[in-house]
Amino acid sequence: MERVAIVGCGAYMDSGYGCPGEWRCLKAAALGEGAFENPAQVVSFVKCHCPGRTLVPNLGMAAKLSEIKPDAVYLSSCLVNAKPGCPYAGADELAEIIQSKTGIPVIKGTHDYH
Ligand code: SF4
Repeated sequence: MERVAIVGCGAYMDSGYGCPGEWRCLKAAALGEGAFENPAQVVSFVKCHCPGRTLVPNLGMAAKLSEIKPDAVYLSSCLVNAKPGCPYAGADELAEIIQSKTGIPVIKGTHDYH
């Protein structure tokens, strides 16, 4: 089973509206729905914090502490589809940064539930 890390947009999650806490990302991973072709094991959930500079170090720390290097990093749908978008980097740039710094493939989006 694929082992994955999920990254959520902290600014969005903390609002309590975009992510009220029922964790649709985890549901999609568990059921193999949305961006997940098959059920996947979530080994870390890292919250991005503006302006995003701690994201790569935190992903690295999560892998170190869990002793599990994820096969892929998924940027949550709230991060990828946020409107207005991220004023600092945006999904494309964040994906590029994570991929180039960690060597782990990045998938943009997690679920398409409403
Ligand atoms: S830097 Fe962008 S993606 Fe990260 S928490 Fe802030 S708004 Fe969200």
